[in-house]
Amino acid sequence: MSFFRKNISELEPYVPGKQPKENIVKLNANENPYPPSPKVVSAIDNFSKDNLRLYSDAVSEEVRKAAANSFRVNTDEIIVGNGSDDILTIIVRSFLETDGKIAVVDPSYTLYETLAEIHGVETEKFSLEEDYSLPESYFGTKAKVKFLPNPNAQTGTLFPQENIVRLCAESRGVVVIDEAYAAFANVTSIPLIKEFKNLVVLRTLSKSHSLAGMRIGFGIAEAEIVSGLMKVKDSYNVNSLSQVAATAALQDESYVQKNIEKIIETRNWFASALTDRGWEVVPSEANFVLAKPSIGEAKDIFAELEKSGYLVRHFSTPRLNDKLRFSIGTKEQMLGLLEKL
Ligand code: PMP
Repeated sequence: MSFFRKNISELEPYVPGKQPKENIVKLNANENPYPPSPKVVSAIDNFSKDNLRLYSDAVSEEVRKAAANSFRVNTDEIIVGNGSDDILTIIVRSFLETDGKIAVVDPSYTLYETLAEIHGVETEKFSLEEDYSLPESYFGTKAKVKFLPNPNAQTGTLFPQENIVRLCAESRGVVVIDEAYAAFANVTSIPLIKEFKNLVVLRTLSKSHSLAGMRIGFGIAEAEIVSGLMKVKDSYNVNSLSQVAATAALQDESYVQKNIEKIIETRNWFASALTDRGWEVVPSEANFVLAKPSIGEAKDIFAELEKSGYLVRHFSTPRLNDKLRFSIGTKEQMLGLLEKL
């Protein structure tokens, strides 16, 4: 007999990218290859160890202020999370009754479905069209919460802003636009929160700001939605050191922007290098590229690359299993990878 709820016993957990200890070129989890801003490093150095005795600021006020400035919204339109995954959990717990339903697209970020299963609610899945655009049926679903990453996870493709506006306008429930990769696309739905009360935009410092290990993410929405989400979050959901690092990172936008530009340039160059080699490359606006090899099986290439010191990502789900996903590293790392390929 299991002590667990039935849906937990039967749950297929989300599998994050591997975090190996050995020396390997790590291109599997869409982390930033460049170090965080020197201002982050000095803020951490200056962090008083005595502060560790004390609880962190429950609402991450300094981070909120810095984020409000950076995203050009009001402080009360931002909730800070322990990564944007934390905000996703808060959203599922906040908006979904046990008979509720979420709507996701496929392929996409699979954590949405995992969180729904943990919560005990159903997931309605909509297959993206052949070119990875949204199917018409997704707009019309009555699901209480729609999750859509833009750019999309795993494919890197960008949904046009008209799609987002239409989703918000036509949905009775909440629309979550997960902008984990938006910094690499130079497009955002954040200004739309002023127009649509049902929109929550997610951002993270994991990719653009080189702070994946610090776990800082944001939910950006109309103030009333944010204050509701605040009721559901863990009391001290963001630790003090992360708050200090996040504030410093957000205050050094020019450093972050330079790295983003380098990554975009490397991505575009790497995508054409793969195309030249006969790979079928999905057009990416993110910090990774999904592509189908010209010869050989994706999973065999994945295994060979790992043996030669390059960790990339292979998904075994139907529309992804013939492809590999490469996070964009430095130009040198990508040159080394191309050589192995
Ligand atoms: N959303 C998407 C689409 C992602 O790919 C990721 C990274 N796995 C996240 C959210 C979570 O990012 P974090 O919790 O590091 O902010």
